[in-house]
Amino acid sequence: MTTLTVSQARSAGPAGQQFPAVGGVPLAEFVGAGLRVPVVLGGTTRYVNLDYAASAPALRAVADRVAELLPLYSSVHRGAGYASAVCTGAYEWARDEIASFAGAGDGDVVVITRNTTDALNLLATAAAGPVVHLDIEHHANLLPWQVRQGRVVMARATLGETIDAIEAELAGRPAALLAVTGASNVTGECLPVAELARIAHRHGARIAVDGAQLVPHRRIDMAAAGVDYLAFSGHKLYAPFGAGALVGRRDWLDAAPPYLAGGGAVHQVRLAGTDWAGSPARHEAGTPNVVGAVALAAACRHVASLPARAVAAHEGALLRRLSDGLDQIGGVRTLRLWPDEADRIGVVSFTVDGWPTPLVAQYLSAEHGIGVRDGRFCAHPLLARLSPAGTAVRASLGLGSRADDVDRLAAALAALAGHGPAWTYAGAEQGYVPLPDPRALPDWLTAAAGPVSPCASGSGQAPPSPPTG
Ligand code: PMP
Repeated sequence: MTTLTVSQARSAGPAGQQFPAVGGVPLAEFVGAGLRVPVVLGGTTRYVNLDYAASAPALRAVADRVAELLPLYSSVHRGAGYASAVCTGAYEWARDEIASFAGAGDGDVVVITRNTTDALNLLATAAAGPVVHLDIEHHANLLPWQVRQGRVVMARATLGETIDAIEAELAGRPAALLAVTGASNVTGECLPVAELARIAHRHGARIAVDGAQLVPHRRIDMAAAGVDYLAFSGHKLYAPFGAGALVGRRDWLDAAPPYLAGGGAVHQVRLAGTDWAGSPARHEAGTPNVVGAVALAAACRHVASLPARAVAAHEGALLRRLSDGLDQIGGVRTLRLWPDEADRIGVVSFTVDGWPTPLVAQYLSAEHGIGVRDGRFCAHPLLARLSPAGTAVRASLGLGSRADDVDRLAAALAALAGHGPAWTYAGAEQGYVPLPDPRALPDWLTAAAGPVSPCASGSGQAPPSPPTG
């Protein structure tokens, strides 16, 4: 991974942009930075968000662009009013921005979808023949193929052997498509997409990359890498929920049945039959998510404006700090497919000996204000391979992460491994919730959603002392 000195990192930004000490503080401004959250031991603490791989916070630049658009809210692709023209222009601007972010080739099409899952399901309706995929995939890049009898290649002990196994499968029996993740949402390990593209093409297949985890961390140039299709989600790329994209070659998409049938996807409808539009309109029936598309495009634009070397240096420094911190805690085991491979995004999954993973995650949140994810991460076959219990805890980093986040996690885990939690937690049947849970949700939510956990009113142990920081 590229590393930078502090002075290089500072000078790496475009004019007017200063980049801070590598890994130390966030690389961009985020909505909700500085959020304080309640902890069961009393009071509040600065929220440590180590759950970027699930959904990342929104960039300030994205929120500003959305705020600019909302007063002009009006119909899209119809309506003669000025605001309608703005919304239509904004939606098509978003498509262009997404194409340029992805490095789409001439003639590639951008279909705006709800998310990566939606994008890959759309591609599954269009793939013109058998599909090959790995067993380590997120369900979004596994189930759309499984329901169409996709062929599974098992990841091997090394990345090199895995690539050879993919090549052997493609060479042995023709396939139309190789579908691979760009980066694992469990181990953070990256796959060499340009090399895999060459292999797929050598054997007459196309390649689709699940970019959900890759694109928030690495620049991708589809045309240069030979990637035929790329799917990704806005909510992992520092935009709010609701929009994603499938970018790729037009011919399959134009030949596929319309993904949704309805207004906007047609040239002419007669009761006897319909002339469907070409892509992207063909697959975007109904009123589209203009705000979501603009937010996604604004995120693409902002992320692309950050120097790739500074982003890699920031994340690399934090990932090393996180890995070193976890390595020093007895009983913490990290999950890796290919421990010898260095190319990883800032995603680390681990277990703590003697402590069930849901309890670890609840403890981190309840006592330390640290947000992580636990479970099987929508990658059940991979977790079954890597974790004896079939589950893990995942800490994931992004542009808003800072050294103190990593240090707080390491300190909290060291305390857990050393003397266990300070609070009590209900048992496995209830999913290890703090007992009691005195943390209140915001007022406007309390009536509808009730307390943070269903055990909020139970009796439990008195708080020993509040955490700091
Ligand atoms: N692929 C990978 C590698 C992911 O991590 C995720 C989300 N966890 C997805 C696909 C699915 O993304 P979405 O939920 O936005 O459709």
